[in-house]
Amino acid sequence: MQLDCSAYDPNCRDCSRLAEFLDQVRHQYPAYFCKPVPPFGPERATLLVVGLAPGMHGANASGRPFTGDWCSDLLYGTLYTYGFAKNPRSLSRDDDQALIDCRLTNAVKCLPPQNKPTPAEIKTCSKYLAQEINSIQPKVIVCLGAVAHDAVLSCLVGIDRSIKRSAYRFSHAAVHDVAGIRLIDSYHPSRYNTNTGRLTPEMFSAVFALVRRYV
Ligand code: SF4
Repeated sequence: MQLDCSAYDPNCRDCSRLAEFLDQVRHQYPAYFCKPVPPFGPERATLLVVGLAPGMHGANASGRPFTGDWCSDLLYGTLYTYGFAKNPRSLSRDDDQALIDCRLTNAVKCLPPQNKPTPAEIKTCSKYLAQEINSIQPKVIVCLGAVAHDAVLSCLVGIDRSIKRSAYRFSHAAVHDVAGIRLIDSYHPSRYNTNTGRLTPEMFSAVFALVRRYV
């Protein structure tokens, strides 16, 4: 694979708005992690799961993707059900949770205000996502939400410039074959999506049942 990529930098401040926001949040919550949140899981894995960005009181606080907030139990519980996690819950970076043949990351590594990174910030951070795809070499990527889908697709266009993005639109439970990788879309397991019924535990489980058809 040939991608425009860089190794994860734990002290990255390439997005000034996000770096300054993290400085503010660190002042407000001194015990929080408040840095770019690294991926979690083995360095080589068949499955890569990509979310949007750290949540204020979840990954941004704990320093592990999807750990410590609303999204955590549904995601890790589902990964556990399908044999991709050692435990059904992920409570902190110090617990004994482990992922099995699965790596978990976010398209944007730093907490964005209102959970909304700008297109420029997503693009700036894509060098790390591209590096992860390049080194992990997953067979399947689950994209949690349209932003993750678009970010992953941008990285894959870096592999194969002939890829037509319009042929791969985000849709819940859609399966796309792109550059030799199977992309599976899901609505993001956010509080809003689960509270409104847009994403139910059954719908989320069905996505990982699909993953198990291929992995
Ligand atoms: S979002 Fe990514 S590129 Fe931007 S400052 Fe954080 S780690 Fe760096």
